[in-house]
Amino acid sequence: MIDYAPLEAWFVTGSQHLYGPEALEQVRANSEAVVAGVNGSGALPVKVVFKAVVTTPDEVSAALREADGAPNCIGVIAWMHTFSPGKMWIGGLSRLRRPLCHLHTQMGRDIPWSTIDMDFMNLNQSAHGGREFGYICTRLGIERKVVVGHWRDGSVQDRVATWLRAAAAWHDSQGMRIARIGDNMRQVAVTEGDKVEAQRRFGYAVDGYGLGDLVAHVEAASEGAVDALCGEYADTYSMMEGLLPGRARHQSLRDAARIELGLRSFLTEGGFHAFTDTFENLHGLRQLPGIAVQRLMADGCGFGAEGDWKHAALVRSMKVMAHGLPGGTSFMEDYTYHLDPGDQGVLGAHMLEICPSIAAGTPSCEIHPLGIGGREDPVRLVFDAAPGPAVNVAVVDLGDRFRMVVSEVEVVEPFEALPKLPVARAMWKPRPDLETAAAAWIHAGGAHHTAFSLTLTAEHLEDFAAMAGVECLFIDDDTELRRFRRELR
Ligand code: MN
Repeated sequence: MIDYAPLEAWFVTGSQHLYGPEALEQVRANSEAVVAGVNGSGALPVKVVFKAVVTTPDEVSAALREADGAPNCIGVIAWMHTFSPGKMWIGGLSRLRRPLCHLHTQMGRDIPWSTIDMDFMNLNQSAHGGREFGYICTRLGIERKVVVGHWRDGSVQDRVATWLRAAAAWHDSQGMRIARIGDNMRQVAVTEGDKVEAQRRFGYAVDGYGLGDLVAHVEAASEGAVDALCGEYADTYSMMEGLLPGRARHQSLRDAARIELGLRSFLTEGGFHAFTDTFENLHGLRQLPGIAVQRLMADGCGFGAEGDWKHAALVRSMKVMAHGLPGGTSFMEDYTYHLDPGDQGVLGAHMLEICPSIAAGTPSCEIHPLGIGGREDPVRLVFDAAPGPAVNVAVVDLGDRFRMVVSEVEVVEPFEALPKLPVARAMWKPRPDLETAAAAWIHAGGAHHTAFSLTLTAEHLEDFAAMAGVECLFIDDDTELRRFRRELR
């Protein structure tokens, strides 16, 4: 469902004609060596393609225009090997729509003390060439990532890799289709928003569908396919006794499997990469989709409960960013607190829909009553999230703009066993502490739903928000509430 293989980032080197053809040949050869080097490092998730050494305004415009038109080009990496006068870049950069990364590096790491002469100085000018480029980007208001350091350095490659992942998600978000099955949970504010502005800003389109559209797919699933999927559940999860064939609740498992088959068919047919549902619109479904949503998320699908299309989109984008890395990414909700002053924590969960990609062990497939929704008991996967650093991320619509909020947390083992809690959950300690993090989140107007990831860092989201041109607030070890509130004002 997510594939980086066809994607490319284009590498464009800035220079000019003052240095003569020989120097430009060297600039080209060095650019090719840098591209081969970073591609060969194994650190980058997307291949970088060397495109051009640009030395005139026309060459700049042509290279950037071609990048915009290339369907698999997810972004442009620019390197000023020499000085490259900024006015040459105005036309091209003003029209560029692809994400931009300014790699502020130079060919050799060290100054060659014993041999350095003016020829070397003429050829290796990125220290000031990059500043001229930075000025014109800032003057034009171009959002970009600036990565500084030697290109062989692992931390430099990691920062470029992070940007590439954000760019892959940005590429995926352009034209992403999101199905809103049913509408919003009644009266809820934060899950609403301006879908037209979201499409303009993030590229994804949200369209509503009635339950009947889904139910037709659920009913069309064959008995043989239901048998096979029940078998797959039994092979993959530890099953609650009563759900097995011949047992009292087996029909409920079959109903759940049928819903999964119907949802997959509906989403595939419509080309959807994310969807929402709500327990208040379930007409024609026997259960609120639980295990179906959980397994679809594990396959890379975005999901938001109660009509929450902004977090459905964000879960999908974060799934794309995290592609191929260990850890997992899920829809999430801050549910309940442990407020012991000596050992505070947040228990995150949802009614059902937490992605098993974040599970610490083998999920348990269970059936339990659901207090709301008025349907039959839903089948769900129950597990604890794996410990480790994680981020909780929300996007809210403030009426005149979107805001992203990123909260760094540390997932821990639940302080005690939770034998009666029949849902998947994650226990975490927010940074810098629960009081500061929760107050900052609330002042920022952050949502009660989030996209949660054990894989991604705040930098992935920072890069993605920059590509979207939305403000991004960070709650982490450096957060101090008064300063944070000043930042909000
Ligand atoms: Mn919810």
